[in-house]
Amino acid sequence: MGLVLFNTLAREKQPFTTLEEGVVRMYNCGPTVYNRQHIGNFRAFLFADVLRRWLEYLGYEVRQVMNITDVGHLLDEDAGEGEDRIEAQARREQLDPFEISRGYADTFFSDLERLGVQPALVYPRATDHIDEMVEMIEGLLEKGYAYESHGDVYYDVTKFERYGRLSGNRLEDLEAGARIAVREEKRHAADFALWKSDPHHLMKWNTRFGPDGFPGWHIECSAMARKHLGDRLDIHTGGEDNVFPHHECEIAQSEAFTGQPFATFWLHTKFLQVDGGKMSKSLGNVYTLDDVEERGFSIRALRFALVRGHYRQPLNFTWQVLADAASALESLDDLVLRLRRAVEGQGAADDDAAGAALVDEARATFEEGMNDDLNVSRALPALFGLRTHVLEGALGRDAARAALEFVERANGVLGVVQLEPEDLDDDVEASIRAREEARARKDWAEADRIRDELLAAGIVLEDGPEGVTWRRK
Ligand code: AMP
Ligand code: ZN
Repeated sequence: MGLVLFNTLAREKQPFTTLEEGVVRMYNCGPTVYNRQHIGNFRAFLFADVLRRWLEYLGYEVRQVMNITDVGHLLDEDAGEGEDRIEAQARREQLDPFEISRGYADTFFSDLERLGVQPALVYPRATDHIDEMVEMIEGLLEKGYAYESHGDVYYDVTKFERYGRLSGNRLEDLEAGARIAVREEKRHAADFALWKSDPHHLMKWNTRFGPDGFPGWHIECSAMARKHLGDRLDIHTGGEDNVFPHHECEIAQSEAFTGQPFATFWLHTKFLQVDGGKMSKSLGNVYTLDDVEERGFSIRALRFALVRGHYRQPLNFTWQVLADAASALESLDDLVLRLRRAVEGQGAADDDAAGAALVDEARATFEEGMNDDLNVSRALPALFGLRTHVLEGALGRDAARAALEFVERANGVLGVVQLEPEDLDDDVEASIRAREEARARKDWAEADRIRDELLAAGIVLEDGPEGVTWRRK
């Protein structure tokens, strides 16, 4: 069975197809850089990373673009109201808004690196694409999908027949349910701003719409996707909150402008919950990577905790969940270590058909799980199952070699296992040598003392037939 993906637009799983053979054009809605991204945001970004890696595993060339929203995302985006998030933060920190966005974008990139995320082809910033946005807005005005009003430009949702198709919202309901009285500038409650004028806005551009304007959040993504990937995409992703209004509006803009379908597949990551509820500042449970490390967990364990479930299943984060992920990850590290030893080992048989069959079965299970809408929780038992076989001594040397190769490829997708032994600090290496010398002169007390000392430093020694190996606790 080939890859199937749950397409929000179709409300069902569909076989994956691409516009161009062997090439995937993928756009991921990226962060709004007005604060430090939290572990919930990273659930969405890690899904994009695993998806990209899985598509590469399948042999596709993936052109991945993730935007940086550095202007125009308002505090109350559902209503299209409120202050610009970046500017509000700039006021709080008494900094220039460009400094705010630059600073948090830098932190975002370094967080991605710490999480082992493979860099996208490009991370376009909204403020670098004002011309492209203006071009699209002008086109929408010419085609009658937009209107100018009080210096702003709005999208006229009643002109776009398919408005609501992605989210299931109906225009009548949106009008009736509008939380805020329809502003006189707008013709319909659901009309949204493509361009806003505001002389008090700090980040502003002089365009044919007026001297002091800035773009709406939705037009940014339509314009940046088109600029970097073309009129049509294979995949567009975001968190579940992006379905409406953001992605609904992107579709309306892009399709009205180009006259073509925008993205074939729309994928949405379910929100990460914390302690059974929403993450919120007032509850003090908005965790960053630093919080995770301060609690003594590795970022690798966090990555595993966030990617090991299915992205459309709810995930409730607790410290226990992270502890469980860390210990499951230890068994995977251990699997690699044992496979290495089996490959190098002297005793095992070279040619064993039964072992080879176990490896093939594990590979098939993994691929079936991943092909089923990136269901990592269906795919992972393949790896843990292999470990059981290794512990039982069921794999000969050739099978162990095939298993190791497979585990390395699988980890190329998950990005969690420690594949290469880390370089030991000189001090640790000296301790291991000193312990060997103590053992050679049968000074067991000293050898044990050194072993315990290393253990306290998080280094576990294991004595095997081929000498001493070690791993981090
Ligand atoms: P923002 O910086 O608010 O634009 O959000 C960046 C991305 O993170 C968007 O795709 C959101 O949908 C996603 N996101 C925000 N909060 C969560 C959460 N708790 N769980 C998963 N994804 C989230
Ligand atoms: Zn977006």
